Amino acid sequence: MKEFLKHHPWQIIEEGFDPHYHTISESVFSIGNGQMGQRANFEETYTGETLRGSYVAGVYYPDKTRVGWWKNGYPEYFAKVLNAPNWIGLDLRVGKHVLDLAACKVEDFRRVLDMQAGTLSRSFVATLADGKKLRVSAQRFCSMARGEVGAIRYAITPLNFSDQVTVSLFVDADVVNKDSNYDEKFWEEVYKEAAAGSAIVTAQTKKTLFHVTTGMRYVITSGGQPVKIDRTDIVEREKFAGNAVVFNVEQEKEVVIYKYAAVLSSENHAKNALVTAGKEVLDNAVRTGYDALLEEHQKVWKHTWDVCDITIEGDIAAQQGIRFNIFQLMQTYTGKDERLNIGPKGFTGEKYGGVTYWDTEAYCLPFFLSTAEPKVARNLLVYRYKHLPKAIENAHKLGFVQGAAFYPFVTMNGEECHNEWEITFEEIHRTSAMAYAMRDYIAYTGDKAYLAEYGLEVLIGIARFWAQRVNWSSDKNKYVILGVTGPNEYENNVNNNWYTNYLGAWTLRFTLDAIDYVKSAFAIRFGEIASHIHFKETEETTKWREIVEKMYYPEDSRRGIFLQQDGFLDKELKRVSDLRPEDRPLNQKWSWDRILRSCFIKQADVLQGIFLFEDDFEIEAIRRNFDFYEPMTVHESSLSPCVHVILASKLGYKSMAYDLYLRTARLDLDDYNNDTEDGCHITSMAGTWMSVVKGFGGMRAKNDTLYFTPFIPDQWTSYSFRVEFRGRVIKVKVSKDGVETKLESGAPLEILVNDAAVSLK
Ligand code: BGC
Repeated sequence: MKEFLKHHPWQIIEEGFDPHYHTISESVFSIGNGQMGQRANFEETYTGETLRGSYVAGVYYPDKTRVGWWKNGYPEYFAKVLNAPNWIGLDLRVGKHVLDLAACKVEDFRRVLDMQAGTLSRSFVATLADGKKLRVSAQRFCSMARGEVGAIRYAITPLNFSDQVTVSLFVDADVVNKDSNYDEKFWEEVYKEAAAGSAIVTAQTKKTLFHVTTGMRYVITSGGQPVKIDRTDIVEREKFAGNAVVFNVEQEKEVVIYKYAAVLSSENHAKNALVTAGKEVLDNAVRTGYDALLEEHQKVWKHTWDVCDITIEGDIAAQQGIRFNIFQLMQTYTGKDERLNIGPKGFTGEKYGGVTYWDTEAYCLPFFLSTAEPKVARNLLVYRYKHLPKAIENAHKLGFVQGAAFYPFVTMNGEECHNEWEITFEEIHRTSAMAYAMRDYIAYTGDKAYLAEYGLEVLIGIARFWAQRVNWSSDKNKYVILGVTGPNEYENNVNNNWYTNYLGAWTLRFTLDAIDYVKSAFAIRFGEIASHIHFKETEETTKWREIVEKMYYPEDSRRGIFLQQDGFLDKELKRVSDLRPEDRPLNQKWSWDRILRSCFIKQADVLQGIFLFEDDFEIEAIRRNFDFYEPMTVHESSLSPCVHVILASKLGYKSMAYDLYLRTARLDLDDYNNDTEDGCHITSMAGTWMSVVKGFGGMRAKNDTLYFTPFIPDQWTSYSFRVEFRGRVIKVKVSKDGVETKLESGAPLEILVNDAAVSLK
């Protein structure tokens, strides 16, 4: 755990420059706008350790798979979110010396991510090798109002000299992915153009042939007037275009460089129209000017915060944590484009490659259900509907037949791109996350008709998968599911993972109910679906019913708990508190076999199931399972603590819920898992939101009603959040004195607070 960032309710602040923290900060201070985003790299040259990263939503590269030992069924490629052309570049040379924070004395360094305004700022005083001192104050943002625009304000003040300086402003498509499997570069130049004051480069990805046009223009002023430019050199090389601008600076006189960038992709424009469109976007941005662009950008953020802010009084660390999570989520996915999804690292790093994991359905969906119009959550479901043919193809490749659908663990376009056998083939629970998402969506929005339009086809595909994946054990006289990995990836190839068996059987039940519903409410549509997918209704549903009835669930009746998998009790049962600090995180310190043999649990597994299906279990059964599994859980997946917060809250374990909350909310800010430098844990941030709203606030959507059973952690004076629910905005404020609920917009509604009906008008 590292605590180098200052606490502040609306800002993330780093004071003093410590290069050891730089790659962590590059992740934490990332900015984006749903359409593009980037790590908090320095604009100017930096020769120290850095992970350069700019990303354009939807643009990826299928990097040829690299594994030590090929196994049949592995995907051919691993789709990577690409490091895209860099538009922030702005190098500064004073005399013979280039400004490079790795090579000069740095004082008064301050980096601020202003979450209210959506800006990244940085200021410092640098002393170059020849003693020349200058102050730099930089700010930039990716416009939330214009998805293709980025802007930088870079101010330089010479403190003890007057001299000629050279500023190089450029766009650079000669970028690499650190995680490239064969050290290959993924971009090729298509077009470039540079003139005094502007530059533009169009690059295309190999294989996928996406085109991305990145352009820049700039304005240099001092005291509000244009600076007299002595010379502008055009600089061009492969995939690179820019200007080197030479002018004089005077001691104590600030010079401000405004750099405007346009980033357009062939996902949104015809390839042959990209350059013209890019120039137009740039012209408009320059005409609007930095301040007005910033103002419209901040307006969008204000509106976003008006809807989805969570306030916490009395605990700045917790307040900062929750806002950081909401901020990062909102700048990763805006819901405007149904082709996009939410990558575990968003625009903050390369790790995890493809963008879509089960994280979206299991963690992010509830957040977007409550903080955005229903269309946004629906788009996330339809995204998977569109991938159904690929899910069927994925299943077919692994030997499943008759339209069985096996959704990928990691994907960009519906195809599986994960290639670790224990996950690709075995972590099968993910395919049912798509079914659970429908249940969540319908419970929250009431839009059951979704099943007829899209849902049922997906459900039947997934149900067919489960029906073929189980096998009959004549020894147990039950259906079993062998050779799986549950959500807890610190166990592989286990038999009868309780979570997987429960989810598989539940999916069959849910599908049977969905069939009944669509048949009775949309008979014609049902006929169409059935014929389209060659549904042998009687034969298939009879088998599904039998599986549901005879599914095997491992349990320990003496302890009254579900067993994570067959044989779990053979392990040496230890507690995380028995581990030495130097052994953590286990995945960086222990050999894999040692992890597998141990009882330690990476992330909620049995408890994940209890969280999803809590109404199926008595509170004392939930307590027994929680008390058994929580002490063995190392939470080395970011997705884990939030589930435990929600269950701990339900069980009244207030202080544990609070400690776990801090862990999820400040996971990246304090680098709990020692991996923030790879990027932030974007999808688990939705889990942080759930921790407050579903955990502390106890919110549930059931029986077409919202229920709240709130409590307040001792450390807090009050907290409040808003949720959108069926055309209303409801504000909930919880303080030591009780709960206040308010209807902020929409028609009157009855909700339940601590099981008592409350009429909101
Ligand atoms: C977790 C998975 C998750 C993935 C991406 C892994 O560490 O174990 O459950 O899908 O990260 O967030």
